[in-house]
Amino acid sequence: MATGKINVSVENIFPLIKKFLYSDHEIFLRELVSNGTDATLKLKHLISIGEAKVEYGNPIIEVKVDKEGKKIHIIDQGLGMTADEVEKYINQVAFSGAEEFLDKYKDSAKDSGIIGHFGLGFYSAFMVAEKVEIITKSYKDEPAAHWTCDGSPEFTLEPADKTSRGTEIILHIAEDSLEFLEDSKISGLLNKYNKFMPIPIKFGTRTETLPKPEDAPEDYVNETVEIDNIINNPNPAWTKQPSELSDEDYKNFYRELYPMQFEEPLFHIHLNVDYPFNLTGILYFPKLGNDMQIQKDKIQLYQNQVYVTDNVEGIVPEFLTMLKGVIDSPDIPLNVSRSGLQADGAVKKISNYITRKVADKLKALFNENRADFEAKWNDIKIVLEYGMLSEEKFYEKAGAFVLYPTVDDKYFTLEELKEKLKENQTDKDGKLVVLYAGNKDAQHSYIEAAKEKGYEVLLLDSPIISHLIQKIENDNSGLTFVRVDSDHIDNLIKKEENTISKLSDDEKAALKTSLEAYIPKAYSVQLEAMDSQAAPFIITQPEFMRRMKEMSQTGGGGMFGMGNMPEMYNLVVNTNSDLASSILNTEDKTHQEHLVKQALDLAKLSQNLLKGEALTAFVKRSFEMIK
Ligand code: ADP
Repeated sequence: MATGKINVSVENIFPLIKKFLYSDHEIFLRELVSNGTDATLKLKHLISIGEAKVEYGNPIIEVKVDKEGKKIHIIDQGLGMTADEVEKYINQVAFSGAEEFLDKYKDSAKDSGIIGHFGLGFYSAFMVAEKVEIITKSYKDEPAAHWTCDGSPEFTLEPADKTSRGTEIILHIAEDSLEFLEDSKISGLLNKYNKFMPIPIKFGTRTETLPKPEDAPEDYVNETVEIDNIINNPNPAWTKQPSELSDEDYKNFYRELYPMQFEEPLFHIHLNVDYPFNLTGILYFPKLGNDMQIQKDKIQLYQNQVYVTDNVEGIVPEFLTMLKGVIDSPDIPLNVSRSGLQADGAVKKISNYITRKVADKLKALFNENRADFEAKWNDIKIVLEYGMLSEEKFYEKAGAFVLYPTVDDKYFTLEELKEKLKENQTDKDGKLVVLYAGNKDAQHSYIEAAKEKGYEVLLLDSPIISHLIQKIENDNSGLTFVRVDSDHIDNLIKKEENTISKLSDDEKAALKTSLEAYIPKAYSVQLEAMDSQAAPFIITQPEFMRRMKEMSQTGGGGMFGMGNMPEMYNLVVNTNSDLASSILNTEDKTHQEHLVKQALDLAKLSQNLLKGEALTAFVKRSFEMIK
């Protein structure tokens, strides 16, 4: 038996390993199963190039829990190691890897921003074990080796009698890690980290009932067999070519990823690139409402089919973190913090590639079947609108597929919309006026008034729409967006014939004085000569102020500190209405005040502004009037 001392500069590296990444002890299993997978794939490669002259067979990796003996076994049928190789790879290479890793990260041990924690490799076993054994037999014709280490830098290395090729790692689980001896814990971890690893992983067995033979006698008792319980799918959809997969395959894979999710995805995007970086994956557009928060962290990041994390922030552009699916790339550095990741050139390229692929796919879907794309619009718009705001590259491509729906479910692209507006929606300065509503019910009367005049009214109801409108206006100087209740329609859109005022200038001045006597200061009174059928009193809220307020509420950076902006309203009074004449001609001041206040309340009511005490008083007063 050989004993020796691992070449360590830090004597106490094991306690350090244990303490390090305290919350992530569970990754030991991923690391050890990954090593088994690597060893198996290496063997396959050596056989394929004629270097190893052995049968590959159907190798699997087995994980066994021995609760009584407080041990976990990880057994592979890979290339194995000779005693010399154990000396070299475990005592020197693996150790220096672990040491280097600790050196680099011990200061940032609490920085949970380090993703993946790869690189600790074999020695992560000591995060849960007080003693580790390796029993390994190389594919080469050499005796098996048995290495034992109890966590101190001393180890023993002796011959073993293992005859089958491969490596068995035995973890003697430490007292503070006994939870890992629970079957449910281990199967949970295998399911999380190893679900799509490329070599079959066995954990326990299950019984299966054999089919009843055709000539079975009456009293036939069903025969059962014990079969290996393989917990993973070694060939997940993303590793295949898109041409090999049907729509149904993509949907099945979605179910495999999210077994608890009953809703089907709207469509998928298969990512597949090997130059200048390597990346595969499948992204799914789930049905999204107007809520941007709850859907995050559904994309899983893998490296060579090994699960790393479900926090892809910094790798996937932020607007796409609302999607679901998988990306697999060995080219993403994992031992860096999130901020380091964002500064990494390769990662930026990956992020840009994903953005471009998503835009291309959306364009293709739009071109292939516009009706279907329109039907899905409401469920995808939040991602696209957010993308236009946050990624310039995406904004540039968005014109080809982003839609602007009307309140009547017609869908325009921006170019189509401009063509349409040229017909009869321009303002005094010749700008195209995009009328829009944020809520069909709340702005119903305004929408109807606009439609009656033959105008198109869009329905733009995302929480971030005010930001997007602002951006589009800045970018398309010929466009101006106004919500239907922002101003009176006839003020917005240039009209050939101006309605003639029934009132003289003197009468108008008198009317204004009477009105201002009774109207609260928060309203600025505007007299307009309109169609006598139009509502006599209309409340509007200037577009600019309302939009700025909305933007500051939905995180516009609060650039002007407008969180507490006062509400500002206009009261537009139609001087051609009968009510305006009545107000003007009423001698009795009490009655005049009554008329003005009742009309103002009605206007407020139609804008959903009459609440609380004022509403109660209004209802009471109205009952009095019809008594
Ligand atoms: P890494 O896998 O990143 O190289 P590890 O510390 O996990 O680092 O392992 C160090 C080395 O030990 C591996 O490169 C490999 O040569 C050897 N090794 C570890 N586990 C096995 C195994 N199950 N079978 C064969 N060789 C192994």
